[in-house]
Amino acid sequence: MKIGAHVSSAGTLDSSIERAQEIGAEAIQIFVSPPQNWAFKTRDESEFELFRQKATEAKIEPIFLHGIYLINLATPKEVNLEKAIDSLKRYLNTCAKLGGSGVIFHVGSHLGKGIDSVLPQVIEALKRVLHDAPEDVDLVLENNAGQGRNIGAHFDELAKIIKPVNDPRLKVCLDTAHTFASGYNITTPDSVASTAKEFTDILGESALVAVHANDSKVDLGEQRDRHENIGDGFIGNEGFQALLAHPLFQSIPFFLEVPGYDGKGPDRKNVEALKKLRGQALSSV
Ligand SMILES: [Zn+2]
Ligand SMILES: [Zn+2]
Repeated sequence: MKIGAHVSSAGTLDSSIERAQEIGAEAIQIFVSPPQNWAFKTRDESEFELFRQKATEAKIEPIFLHGIYLINLATPKEVNLEKAIDSLKRYLNTCAKLGGSGVIFHVGSHLGKGIDSVLPQVIEALKRVLHDAPEDVDLVLENNAGQGRNIGAHFDELAKIIKPVNDPRLKVCLDTAHTFASGYNITTPDSVASTAKEFTDILGESALVAVHANDSKVDLGEQRDRHENIGDGFIGNEGFQALLAHPLFQSIPFFLEVPGYDGKGPDRKNVEALKKLRGQALSSV
């Protein structure tokens, strides 16, 4: 599996490729607009072309986009639902132009109403997003830590959304910090095996297309979203080595979203820590 990272795409999009090379990342996740803002920047074909060219030269792949943080497909506000659908469509189209694999995003919060009452709206919204989206780009639901009445902390909740939409492009990204904080143990080979089995039983192996590799500042089941550098949190090196050794994750790219040792996000030290664990995992299986 590739060891990748979320990198900044500030400036022109191709600048993210250089940032990936600086830290040794083999794959990347980027935003294509500021994540706290609905505004979407239109870009020239030449910018997409330059990005694709540099990514190919640097052998950076796969490429995933991360959707903006304002999206909540369970929102009670009609205008915000329309903005969210529009944002995801734009991201999927941009992803196709960049030669990317998919758009990872957070479904949102039911704000206390319960998942069952918002489910029809979420399903309908996803169908609309996928209706005229490119054929070769996935729309990827990220699991969360279970904080703030967010939807999709548990595998059965993700299945409740994915099964009725019934589209092969609707996939899952597992964030290790969120997985652990929402109550799935992944600290040892045995616990990774049982969490992976639960995932496969409920969602199927083919649902998984990406992992966000983050250690956790909070302990198992604490339902808070606090990323930590690899090996410094409650998941620990043994947990990451077990994940990297498990068959479910063999062809899945891992993207770091860690705070970094200088507080500026994924850095070479974290990339190298994960690469080292990958080497140990591969020699152990
Ligand atoms: Zn995310
Ligand atoms: Zn994440």
